[in-house]
Amino acid sequence: MIKKNILDYSYDELINEFKQINLQKFRVDQVLDWIFKKHVFDFYEMTNISKLQREILDKYFYIYIPEPINIQESKIDGTTKFLWKLEDGRTIESVLLFYPNRVSACISTQVGCALKCKFCSTGASGFERNLTTGEIVSQVLAIEKLKDVNINNVVLMGMGEPMLNYDNVLKAIRNWNNKKMKNLGARRITISTAGIADKIEELADFELDIRLSVSLHAPNNYIRDQIMPINSKYPIEEVIQSCKIYQEKTKNRVTIEYIAIKGLNDGVEHAEELAKLLKDLKVMVNIIPVNPNPAGFERPSKRFLTNFVNKLKDNNIEATLRMEKGTDIDAACGQLKMRQKGFKTK
Ligand code: SAH
Repeated sequence: MIKKNILDYSYDELINEFKQINLQKFRVDQVLDWIFKKHVFDFYEMTNISKLQREILDKYFYIYIPEPINIQESKIDGTTKFLWKLEDGRTIESVLLFYPNRVSACISTQVGCALKCKFCSTGASGFERNLTTGEIVSQVLAIEKLKDVNINNVVLMGMGEPMLNYDNVLKAIRNWNNKKMKNLGARRITISTAGIADKIEELADFELDIRLSVSLHAPNNYIRDQIMPINSKYPIEEVIQSCKIYQEKTKNRVTIEYIAIKGLNDGVEHAEELAKLLKDLKVMVNIIPVNPNPAGFERPSKRFLTNFVNKLKDNNIEATLRMEKGTDIDAACGQLKMRQKGFKTK
């Protein structure tokens, strides 16, 4: 019989699964408490459950936790990058980041990515497959156990496009949020998307009040087409329109990510155009000087960046220049990839 990964199930599904093997509802709570609060990933170590019941659990289920094959820690800010090996030998990365008031995990949602954004290392290696709910959920658990930390913020900004693995991502979010599981506040979970407009609209009806971040990176289709192939499917006006619908329903401010690339999208005229585009939305624009990337795009000078931010502010758009973490270990935005030198996989 094939064992099932317990982390693939929602709370209600687990109650049902346990019922079928004659385990009472409170056993679900006990098992989840061991997994999420005590980071015990072996049924036999769950000492408040009878030996017989532990055997039953072990017969039908397992607790899938990715195996770390490389861990790199930044000397500058403690940012830590994890390379995990999955059950099928494929690899993904996650990043742990420390802020004054939060411990944040940047989590992957796919092995690779199909979108091929020019500035992103993940896209350069192509798409392999979606992550399962359990593989998404367990990245947080694995980091917590290895580093003895309590993650209180999760951003789905690792490898992959979360909106193209929508069902598993939402299920993972429900599980992190569930009081019997990680009990992480919905407002502490952010989905970042390259702008899958129909899914942004759908997200407006999600029962949990999570945060949304949109990777816009350009003020018009002409520029966006050059760096994000997905723009031909969901052009900028559709993305903005979906954000408006999302905002009307949720009343949430949307974060706009904008990578500044020297000579491409970093002029004050671009800032002006961006401000116009965003004028009917309540947004916060994060300006991120582009990180080292496969296309060889360069960062604008400090003066250009400051002028850009100031121009947005002059136009009543909230904007900040984002401080990057983990650049010394290639853990910054867009630097996560599947294959690393010296680590043979599969
Ligand atoms: N697919 C999702 C989430 C993963 S990427 C998305 O596109 O939002 C997470 C963020 O890193 C995105 O905003 C992405 O555009 C950004 N990013 C990718 N490459 C980058 C680079 N070289 N420099 C800075 N940010 C980058």
